[in-house]
Amino acid sequence: MTQQPIANGDFLTLSLQHPDGLAPMHFNLPDNTTVSVWDSGVICFEPQQPGSKDIVLSCGVHGNETAPIEICAELVQELLTGQLVLKQRLLVLFGNPAAINAGTREINENLNRLFSGHHSMGAGLINAERKRAKALEGYVSRFYSEIRVTDAVPRNRYLYDLHTAIRGSRFEKFAVYPFLHGKPWQKAEFEFLQACDVTTVLLMQTPASTFSYYASNSHGADAFTIELGKVQPFGQNDMQRFTKVRTALRQLVTADNVQTQPFDERQFQLYQVYRAINKQTQEFKLHFADDVENFTSYPLGTLLATDGDTEYRVEREGEAIIFPNAKVAIGQRAMLMVVPTSVASNIS
Ligand SMILES: [Zn+2]
Repeated sequence: MTQQPIANGDFLTLSLQHPDGLAPMHFNLPDNTTVSVWDSGVICFEPQQPGSKDIVLSCGVHGNETAPIEICAELVQELLTGQLVLKQRLLVLFGNPAAINAGTREINENLNRLFSGHHSMGAGLINAERKRAKALEGYVSRFYSEIRVTDAVPRNRYLYDLHTAIRGSRFEKFAVYPFLHGKPWQKAEFEFLQACDVTTVLLMQTPASTFSYYASNSHGADAFTIELGKVQPFGQNDMQRFTKVRTALRQLVTADNVQTQPFDERQFQLYQVYRAINKQTQEFKLHFADDVENFTSYPLGTLLATDGDTEYRVEREGEAIIFPNAKVAIGQRAMLMVVPTSVASNIS
């Protein structure tokens, strides 16, 4: 049997030393779990007798979002060094190694706006992020389709894309549930999110170019973008704040089931998009402080933004701001306005 060839099980460091590509590698762990390195930042684990879940964990789609990168690197290391024994098939993706090295959100373009084929639209595959988005789609497709086990057990697909937000948030952790085209929201997924200490969920009503929407819509995966807190430099994350998510992710990959509480909507803050405000002119201006937290709401009628002669005011009770950014390109979304909602009528 070949020795595990990744020094100290530190796959992140190996990937960051080879951000533009890593030669494929294939080896077994002492418990006969198969490990395959497909590329820089792409590592696939298959236990000999896997459970019914095919799980993708991704991080570093935005290169400066360090906490999820540290969480995934630690998990991979524990698997490679035998401290954790895997139960489920697992693909771990470090989304953008070049941007992680640069300590920036992106090199040329926001990687999380390039999925579901958006990488090849317009100017086409003109930069590293566009090529990476296309490659990541290929790795996810390969992972979900290339399954050694032939039992007739129905398989369930998951993709959790872990992020941290640029700004603070009234609710520190929150998840974005991609548009399901009218299919019911999944109770079991809310229960898993709660086990991860995530009880604020934004329910989307339109398709998106994000990684989680791609996995959900193209592969029928239960998929989420999960925001775990505010961006901090490497080594400056208070890992205590991530204890629950680290524990839940370990259980997810090493056990048949994660320990959860029965779903109770009253324990969640659920929002849906009320409107997206797009920047129309160079005069676009936000009328609140730069450091305002995500999910902040203001009284009815409060002026939120102006764009040339257009004024945007609070129109609905409880309407809250997320992801405001006046610096986007003209035509792009400058902020999202959300309102409280319920899933009671469409959940299974
Ligand atoms: Zn992000």
